[in-house]
Amino acid sequence: MDDPPGASVKVFPTIGPELFHAVRAAHPTRVVLQVPAGLVRNAHEVVERLRAESGAPVILATRPCFGACDVPSLEEAPRADLAIVLGHAPIPNVRLPRRTFFVEMREPGGDPEALAATVAAANLPRRLGLVASVQHLDLLPALTAALAQRGFEVLVEQGDRRLAYPAQALGCNYTGAEAVADRVDAFVFLGTGRFHPVGLALAVDRPVWSLDPLQNQLEPPIDRARLIGRRQLAVAAARDARRWGILVSTFGGQNRSPTALRLQERARAAGREAELLYFDRLDPRDLEGRAFEAYVNTACPRIALDDGQSYPRPVLTPPEFLMVLGELPLAPYRFDTYH
Ligand code: SF4
Repeated sequence: MDDPPGASVKVFPTIGPELFHAVRAAHPTRVVLQVPAGLVRNAHEVVERLRAESGAPVILATRPCFGACDVPSLEEAPRADLAIVLGHAPIPNVRLPRRTFFVEMREPGGDPEALAATVAAANLPRRLGLVASVQHLDLLPALTAALAQRGFEVLVEQGDRRLAYPAQALGCNYTGAEAVADRVDAFVFLGTGRFHPVGLALAVDRPVWSLDPLQNQLEPPIDRARLIGRRQLAVAAARDARRWGILVSTFGGQNRSPTALRLQERARAAGREAELLYFDRLDPRDLEGRAFEAYVNTACPRIALDDGQSYPRPVLTPPEFLMVLGELPLAPYRFDTYH
């Protein structure tokens, strides 16, 4: 049932007639709908609407998705031959288990002229990189033009094959931003929340401002030095650990088994013990009571960076683990980019 990456993927901006028509045309036996945690409240209404509009049987995946990296497996919805995933763009290099429609939930709002005026009023550096959450990518061309009219030089580039769009923010991959970092003096992230500003600040050595496109609110850069200082403390806390658990996810877009095996070899060569631990979705309670003194996580990089405090022992990213082994310097800090 495996399809080559991208072969059976369709992308829709939002839930609407275009999607319903495509579902009808696909003649699915059964559809599985998966939503991110932020949309679970209304998920059952979406199921009802999909059923009514497409005529297809639709079930809801109970497990919300963190990204396009953890779409429903065949075991989670064995009889569904079409998956609909809300809120994410496809990850082009991730192999999918079945036909999948991504509904990116694009947000049409935001006034580019007003947003550019806000940026100009805050006296941001003239050379800017732009990065946006998928929901707000449609604003970029008009915002870039409006900023250019106010004397800004705006740079945007395509990242690597894990990113579907230029300027797209993905929590584990900011390679589009990295491609322009040497030619800009600051970044503006277009979106809401701290998740992407934090990731971007760890990935690029430039101030990262956040611009909420609907509220037209500009937030000053988060404290990059503090973020990195906290990670360096985690590295220091794990420096003397002898027994390591290497965490490996079985989710299609989070499985870095080859990386895990390489790290195991490096650990053993450095005189440390290291065992691989496989899981799908990691729960901190699964690591309680184990004899490991520290962990290195090869699954979603944000597990260590955002949720590390929830675990009973230090959890490092692969580059941080190489810092422990002395194979990478503590500075400059290396973000764990998932390619
Ligand atoms: S690996 Fe993590 S950051 Fe990357 S897409 Fe998946 S959930 Fe998002």
